[in-house]
Amino acid sequence: MVREIMDVRLLARVGSKALIREINEALVLDVVRRSGTTSRAEITSVTGLSPATVTGISSQLVGDGLLIESDVLRGTGGRPARLIELGRDAVIAAGVRLSPDAVEVALVDLRGDVLATRTRPLAATDPASAADAVVEIVTVVAAEHPASVLRGISIALSGIVDRQRGVVRHSGALGWQDVPFGKMVEERSAGRVVIDSLVNSFTAGLVLLDADLAERDVIVISVGASLGASMLVRGRIHRGFGGSAGGFAHSALGERTDGRPCHCGGSGCLETWSSVWGMQGELERRGIAPDPGADAARGVWEEGGAQLGIAIANAAKMFGPERVVLVLSPEVRATAFEKSCRTALISEYAYGDGTAPGLVTISADSEVFARGAGYDMITELFTADRAAAG
Ligand SMILES: [Zn+2]
Repeated sequence: MVREIMDVRLLARVGSKALIREINEALVLDVVRRSGTTSRAEITSVTGLSPATVTGISSQLVGDGLLIESDVLRGTGGRPARLIELGRDAVIAAGVRLSPDAVEVALVDLRGDVLATRTRPLAATDPASAADAVVEIVTVVAAEHPASVLRGISIALSGIVDRQRGVVRHSGALGWQDVPFGKMVEERSAGRVVIDSLVNSFTAGLVLLDADLAERDVIVISVGASLGASMLVRGRIHRGFGGSAGGFAHSALGERTDGRPCHCGGSGCLETWSSVWGMQGELERRGIAPDPGADAARGVWEEGGAQLGIAIANAAKMFGPERVVLVLSPEVRATAFEKSCRTALISEYAYGDGTAPGLVTISADSEVFARGAGYDMITELFTADRAAAG
């Protein structure tokens, strides 16, 4: 919080009035979010803003439905003060998971509650058809909540995404290269549009819901059809140049020569070992039924886990995370994969070094990513530096 207040003071000298107001609103909302229920006096004390500023901003936010007044707090003297808490569904966000065969939407409110979910098959994966499909399903679901203001659409998809420019730089799953998808959706809808990788959207949701992650260094790895990674630095997602952070799926652990062929055109990529696509392809090549529970398949899942464990150890030595979160899609044979991943991480990390970071495994269905995307947009309301970035 201290750092955020410093940011505000810095910007106060250079920023416009509207910008400062937006930042102060984010500060106030964030204090209320963290407290659950609080008073204006408490907000004044935590933020360092003047009582007049806090009164002005909170009245505006109550008017907009972003805050609601609840019980009356009776002090030992003076006028009784009203307690305030976050509003519910006055403002909502649409989180979308876009995959090659479906569009999945989750409407979320300010508190992170899911108001509705809907899935539709995607008829065609070309960018224009996908943009049409996203706007169509969001419009239908949002229309069922006419009293709520839709803040915008946040879209999560598999690939390397330049969030700031709204460009999908590469998506193997969708077959896209340098597609300005953010702009395409924006042209078809009214509100704000954000696009990001599946794993970054998921991580944004984690941070919103788990206060414990607020100041931590964590690597989040998602294992689904493709591999993805998100780097959490002091509780904020580090996206790297042009959104390239976390794009480790097509790196190789050893010689590429004679490696398994990859959908990127190369061979020997980590993707061919540890993604669901890679492991299922290997099962096929070996003539093993792709049933994740089959005993004959176990070796492939174990190899995939072990290769990923080594890759995580390499990344962890470079980045120094306190924790690694492994997000496994339901297609992964979790027990075999996770066990060998953990074993490889621990032994590889210990090679001339200290103790490996803790590995936490989360099993995630596809709706989790749509929800995460929705939370991602809601998070903007609480984050002063994002407001500053516009
Ligand atoms: Zn590759």
